[in-house]
Amino acid sequence: MNALVSALSDRELLARLPEVRGLERRAIAEVIAHLAEVERRRLYLAEACSSMYTFCIERLGYSENEAHTRLQVARLCSQFPAALEALESGSVHLTGLALLCPKVTQANVHELLDEARGKTRREIEALLARRFPRPDVLPSIAPLQPTLLEQGNSVPVTQSEQVAHSAGSTVPRPRVEPLSAASFRVEFTASAELRQKLELAQNLLSHAVSTGDLAALFERALDELLAAELKRRLGAERPRARRSLRAGSRHVPVEVSRAVWERDAFQCTFVDEHGHRCSEKRYITLEHKQPFARGGPPTIDNLALLCKAHNAHRAREVFGEAYIAKKQAEDKTCSKVLSALTHLGFRSKQAKQAVERVRNEGVALDVEPLLRAALAVLA
Ligand SMILES: [Zn+2]
Repeated sequence: MNALVSALSDRELLARLPEVRGLERRAIAEVIAHLAEVERRRLYLAEACSSMYTFCIERLGYSENEAHTRLQVARLCSQFPAALEALESGSVHLTGLALLCPKVTQANVHELLDEARGKTRREIEALLARRFPRPDVLPSIAPLQPTLLEQGNSVPVTQSEQVAHSAGSTVPRPRVEPLSAASFRVEFTASAELRQKLELAQNLLSHAVSTGDLAALFERALDELLAAELKRRLGAERPRARRSLRAGSRHVPVEVSRAVWERDAFQCTFVDEHGHRCSEKRYITLEHKQPFARGGPPTIDNLALLCKAHNAHRAREVFGEAYIAKKQAEDKTCSKVLSALTHLGFRSKQAKQAVERVRNEGVALDVEPLLRAALAVLA
């Protein structure tokens, strides 16, 4: 116990507490304002973190829940400064703001903050239920709707994702809970189709895997899946007959790709100025250190693994913000054209090749001219 605190008289102790609580409130508001600004400037990238969420956990020592709540509120506050004022003055607490997040709009922000003033978590939940009623839940037992499985530690990035995320799903998240040093309980929701597949696998493998041993069955299935996926990314053990590379080809020979994936250990290689390496192992791509667009060759030395966030960060550094924004707009246009083509019944591979060809021919980067030109190619 803090010696200074234990030396206080009862009266002093009680008198000081509101003061300290005030400090805490201001400190939280400061933290939120800093988090919002760090995210706006994308400074977490230079600190070798692939997202603000990772930054909060790895660099600031927050728990997953603490990081999630603070980021939700930081995004709310950067959009609606009145929310930060409410936090600082203590009229709405952090949890309350996080609850309001999905429902706040430019039109209702002041009203909602006003109504939430001084309320407890439960009271704010009741206020939201009153203002944004949801249909009754009838007592029933029904199969759960199929849903996208979420990564246990993923956190929504944009405001719209955040809203969708916080809107509340009734489907339990998949969970991996350690039971001992060597065992885990894994829980997830299976669709009817998955259950059928499981039964079929249990029956077909009943000689090899004792009936009911789902863990053994899953391990076998995953072994095969991983072998196939690694083969797809790294190529078969034996190097294939070398394709002669066209000059200026973006193609990375499979043995080069394998060497880079193995050297970089399937993890982003971005390192910050203090020597911290990005811990991201998802959304990893092979990237040219000297950019392909500037003549960088597809060699082991010139390639490295980067996560999606650091790939974009590098590109912004090399080519500038405006260039990247233009590229993103172009990609959006092309994906609209692709989706139109696949809707018309073309295969996505054919459609992609056609779009790439007309892009290379210098067709104007607008949906209509691209679509026309691509259709001409495909016809
Ligand atoms: Zn990274």
